[in-house]
Amino acid sequence: MQNASLSVGDPIEARCTKCRKNNEHVILIIEEEAPIKVQCGICSRQHKFRLPIAEKKPAVRRVVSHRDAERKEWEGLRATNDEHKATDYCMTSAYKVKAQINHPSFGLGFVQRVAGAQKVEVLFETGKKMMRCK
Ligand SMILES: [Zn+2]
Repeated sequence: MQNASLSVGDPIEARCTKCRKNNEHVILIIEEEAPIKVQCGICSRQHKFRLPIAEKKPAVRRVVSHRDAERKEWEGLRATNDEHKATDYCMTSAYKVKAQINHPSFGLGFVQRVAGAQKVEVLFETGKKMMRCK
């Protein structure tokens, strides 16, 4: 923080409780070199200084990186397995963990776990999916 250089009237990015976003504010009161009260440049509301908080994008990014992680896991499995051993997916077949299947839409998949009666979790290139089985 470069609070030492702040003074009343300076613009500062802050969280506005009314606009519910990070806006440019003007500093109204400074105490001990920290902004205490600010005025929103958008709605003119005067309120306590709040640090700008991250927008909700990180949640989306986390989903993407989760998908990336699954993709990497899939690529690792494909590299260490002989994909010619994969059998065509059929919901009337029984599958074991680590079995390889060929799905008409999702392609090559690896059975990750048995997820209950007649369900297995399969890792495809596009991510994990629950598949029916015997
Ligand atoms: Zn505002």
